[in-house]
Amino acid sequence: MSPLLTPTITQTLAELGTARVPHIITELPGPIARSIIARDAACVSPSLGRVYPLVPKRARGLVIEDVDGNRFLDFNAGIAVNSTGHCHPHVLAAIEQQSRELIHYCSSDWYLPVYIELCERLAATVAPSMGPAKVFLANSGTEAVEGAIKLARFTTGRPNVIAFHGAFHGRSLGALTLTASKAKYRSGFGPMIAGVFHAPYGEFGYIDNVIFKHLSEPSDVAAIIVEPVQGEGGYVVPPPGWLAELRELCDQHGIVLIADEVQTGAGRTGTMWACEYERIAPDILLAGKGLASGMPLAAIIARSPIMQWTPGKHGSTFGGNPVACAAALATLDILQDGAIQNAATIGASLLADLQTLRHRQHAITAVHGRGLMIGIDFVSAEFATAVEQECFRRGLLVLTCGDRSLRIAPPLTITEGEVRTGLHILTDAISAVATIAA
Ligand code: PLP
Repeated sequence: MSPLLTPTITQTLAELGTARVPHIITELPGPIARSIIARDAACVSPSLGRVYPLVPKRARGLVIEDVDGNRFLDFNAGIAVNSTGHCHPHVLAAIEQQSRELIHYCSSDWYLPVYIELCERLAATVAPSMGPAKVFLANSGTEAVEGAIKLARFTTGRPNVIAFHGAFHGRSLGALTLTASKAKYRSGFGPMIAGVFHAPYGEFGYIDNVIFKHLSEPSDVAAIIVEPVQGEGGYVVPPPGWLAELRELCDQHGIVLIADEVQTGAGRTGTMWACEYERIAPDILLAGKGLASGMPLAAIIARSPIMQWTPGKHGSTFGGNPVACAAALATLDILQDGAIQNAATIGASLLADLQTLRHRQHAITAVHGRGLMIGIDFVSAEFATAVEQECFRRGLLVLTCGDRSLRIAPPLTITEGEVRTGLHILTDAISAVATIAA
């Protein structure tokens, strides 16, 4: 195994112990967690929709220890963020070294070597398909989406953007207008920005036959924005050839194709970018989440001829913060040194195991995904939520998505042993819920 993968595992064993993971020693939530949750209720924005009472204190690799000393196996990675496992030593060292040298200096106004180095590394990852690229660094996926809408409108001089039902692109007003995964995310915040149209995800011909015919001429469309595998919408893999159809439409009409790879990117699906599966080259590729192993960082990576906006057109105080950039460079080292390959190999065998489980467990209606982005569909939303909660009680962290799915998105450094442990708990949890439901 690669030396960059091994330390995560060793560190896990060294610092949190191998004794037993999961290891639940209190009722959940435990007494300390309960007191923290009570304080939270008094002062934290109630817009945060917590899914179960997990109060993490420290973590290594795939192991999370809560404030009461309970240990959980993490199949969430902080929603597809902790791509290299928690507190990977290579990432820690990069953060520490950069913090000692320079924590912040605004990249919008001055030149930061680490910012430039990261842009070079990111541009190199897309060069084979997209050609020469330029990069803008932001703090969050939402900001990358906002920037991409601006860039597409600026470049084309056109107003409209096409997104898809089930999409999640963030919650600021522009990104929220594109988001169409749950109506409650949008409700109460209108009016949304003008010029956005939605199409069914994965449906061939719809844009041509419906949107271009009845709603917007293609010459008014600046961009089509698509998740190569839909994330919050349910870990939905589109039918083969559909992304190619979007690429063709964009070529035909001079529309910018934006791949929102905030969740699928940085190795999650077993290749650096999920677009690579279908050999699709977007004009703009957005990255975030797993890019910096948990430090806030996102990127707008655009073909050089597209990213031609002039000084002052876009900027950010914190975007491309040096410490986040250093964490991202270390993350890319780990990803390219074996973690992406690990995601592809382990993801494929986990998908096969879950397919087998589906044949034994009737409550599972479908299993789909790529690499370590796997969705399990259940008979109902209630069933999916009950499995999520049961897994938590048994020490496995998973999260629902879409209408009635459970997502599996562990760190890409996961070992076969950890997969076996997680699968075992998941299987038992599903059986327990099925027994109660029967
Ligand atoms: N785009 C996609 C595909 C996402 O999954 C998300 C978050 O889940 C976002 C954008 C928004 O990213 P952030 O929460 O970092 O703003």
